Amino acid sequence: MSNVMRDDAVWANGIARPVIAGFKAYSARGASTDALHLDANESPWAPPPAGPNEAAYNRYPAQQPPVLMKRLSGLYGVASEMIMLGRGADEAIDVLLRTFCEAGEDNILICPPSFGYFDIAAQIQGAGIVKVPLDQNYDVDQRAVKKALMDNDIKVVMLCSPNNPTGNSIDRAFVKSLCIDNPDTLILVDEAYVEFSKKSSLSNIIGEYRNLVITRTLSKAYGLAGVRAGVALANPAIINLMLKVLPPYPVPRPVEQAVMKALAPSAMAVHDTRLDIWKAERTRLLKTLPKSDLIEKIYPSDANFILLKAKDEKALLAALSRFNIRIRDFRSKIPGHFRISVGTPEENDLLFSALGITREQVKNERIAEAFRTTKETDISVRVNLDDPSNVAIETGLGFFDHMLEQIAKHGGMGVTLKCAGDLHIDSHHSVEDTALAFGAALKQALGNKAGIGRYGFVMPMDETQARVAIDLSGRPAFVFNGDFPSQNVGEFAAEMCPHFFLSLSQALGASIQIDVKGDNTHHMIEACFKGVGRALRPAISRGPTMDIPSTKGVI
Ligand SMILES: *Cc1c(COP(=O)(O)O)cnc(C)c1O
Repeated sequence: MSNVMRDDAVWANGIARPVIAGFKAYSARGASTDALHLDANESPWAPPPAGPNEAAYNRYPAQQPPVLMKRLSGLYGVASEMIMLGRGADEAIDVLLRTFCEAGEDNILICPPSFGYFDIAAQIQGAGIVKVPLDQNYDVDQRAVKKALMDNDIKVVMLCSPNNPTGNSIDRAFVKSLCIDNPDTLILVDEAYVEFSKKSSLSNIIGEYRNLVITRTLSKAYGLAGVRAGVALANPAIINLMLKVLPPYPVPRPVEQAVMKALAPSAMAVHDTRLDIWKAERTRLLKTLPKSDLIEKIYPSDANFILLKAKDEKALLAALSRFNIRIRDFRSKIPGHFRISVGTPEENDLLFSALGITREQVKNERIAEAFRTTKETDISVRVNLDDPSNVAIETGLGFFDHMLEQIAKHGGMGVTLKCAGDLHIDSHHSVEDTALAFGAALKQALGNKAGIGRYGFVMPMDETQARVAIDLSGRPAFVFNGDFPSQNVGEFAAEMCPHFFLSLSQALGASIQIDVKGDNTHHMIEACFKGVGRALRPAISRGPTMDIPSTKGVI
């Protein structure tokens, strides 16, 4: 043990409950080994049916399963020794208090209205509770918190950022100053919603402040509320003490399997795109909810929920119950206030209907997403045909990113696209599969194509000419005329240019014709992508009427 680690251990023992500091941890099973295990009175047989998942169900899991801890270490960017995994962030909060707060002696500090479980967990443990309410803007009252810390002996300050239910984040510098000014007080920051925030997690400064504890959860951003997994991130000395209090086997094997699956590299692009959707929907709710006559006020949010004040509480509840929509009633803590979670675009549309917001009042944007996972690639893409402001493309191929940006920019659409592909082999799969996913998203966003222009034709005139014609007919067809003078532009093979548009025409259901002339391959490819973007613009844009642009009435 290094001196620093020994110092930290002495310090942590000194602030823990004496009984916890004093005993040796229950010796639970460590990681399974290949020994013949006759040490834990387990069944030698796995339960039927003995599929691959059940193979190890007869063996107790490790208290902190090593493979899972390694994955979480990667996810949160901190060493495994700084992580305690439990049954949700709730258990991490509970274990923290049971480790450090002596019943009837130690106090915690909270800033209500905040996460209700802080209060409950403290009461269960018998800790005293000092309350410093948020100010009128629902910000932490920094001066009052500092004063309360001088006037009282506080073992744990419990903060939540972004705060539930108010949705706002706490200033990073304030948290740091609390850590410095109160070296023997634990500063807990519950970051259950930090994935939704523009502010980054404080997890990257745990190494600098040994009294800082962060809780994170897989329940919200990663969709695993039903699986129960969340963590405390802190100095290893704090974590070691908490592991004495955490039950011996808190992470069932099926939980480990479910978490590993949901956090597989192939799933991460899906999480990223969903977060994009979530944030875009939060913006839409923030813009649209004030149009309801039932709502008096809404509050900005860094989280996946919005706090609001009702104009007429009874009418609001009645309107929602007619649509069988439930929201969280906060009136016992903040008079007249409710909390609404951000749902899918369809769910939020239903909410708007329930709140009497008409279709014309809702910005009716054509948004779609597509996910494509094959052995070679993992792709997630989201397009918004009516809001070009969000363009972020990451395929690992700089030139290709730049070309896709040309389509987005000249097509006047928002595109967020992530592709993790087998680039170590070559770019073929990444380019082809990106075209297929992008085309599928465009097709879905176009929906029934009501009101669109359908056709587009362009001929940019510089030293390189690309003539592009597009018909969003629903029928794939592709014609390409052009000879590239060289085979590659950087790592991008020139032949992948027509191949991209062939795949796009198939997935989008469009006829695409391209003639390109020139004597520089880079410029020629760029002209193709720009030209397709330009031709798509009138083809996808909606006119004043919502007619289907076909004599047949459908396309
Ligand atoms: C939802 C929530 C949690 C619960 O996390 P679990 O990991 O599901 O236990 C913790 N803290 C806050 C502030 C929450 O809103």
